[in-house]
Amino acid sequence: MMQSDHIKRLTCPRCLRPQRTCICNWITPTENAVEVLILQHPLEVDHAKGSVRLLQLSLPRSEVVAGEVFTEQAMQALLQTPGAKYTVLLYPDSPEDKGLGLATPPQLDQALLLDPSQVRLIVLDGTWRKSRKMLYLNPLLQQLPRLSLSNTPASRYLIRKAHSPGQLSTLEATCYALMQLEQNEEKYQPLLTAFSSFVRQQLAYEKY
Ligand SMILES: [Zn+2]
Repeated sequence: MMQSDHIKRLTCPRCLRPQRTCICNWITPTENAVEVLILQHPLEVDHAKGSVRLLQLSLPRSEVVAGEVFTEQAMQALLQTPGAKYTVLLYPDSPEDKGLGLATPPQLDQALLLDPSQVRLIVLDGTWRKSRKMLYLNPLLQQLPRLSLSNTPASRYLIRKAHSPGQLSTLEATCYALMQLEQNEEKYQPLLTAFSSFVRQQLAYEKY
């Protein structure tokens, strides 16, 4: 009893982080039309600096599932949605992946992207190595048409050394993908601005 009271006092019930580093201040409710499913590498789950929690709490149509390898059955269940959604995988065009023997994905069907409410975006949350491994280990993901980002600005994400310059946080990459799919840049700006403040606060924690 005492212990659970102790935990309750110290953990924010909404963002599940310690009260001291609660991120709820930056939650920015943003009505996403495209549904988002984030497959989170297990190493990212407890990562205090992860951007995914903030993203998930800000987007009403989003879901996070942790795992690296999924059984075919589990993956099928994740990819199937009620209604005839067009499911696309956010993944960069990377020539280095050629040697991996991955299945060639189907072409992105622009006509099916016209109605954002009928589109579902799958995002892999992990360093680029981990994301690539997840794609490699889950053949059903390889069969999804891929969306790659075009003309993204530099990342605001300065707190993860594992991310190389030019690589975006999962929150940013997802926002840019949604902007591209929904053809609406303004809608996601407040969330990106809130994310910048979140990053600044994380940097302040590191300094002191
Ligand atoms: Zn909180």
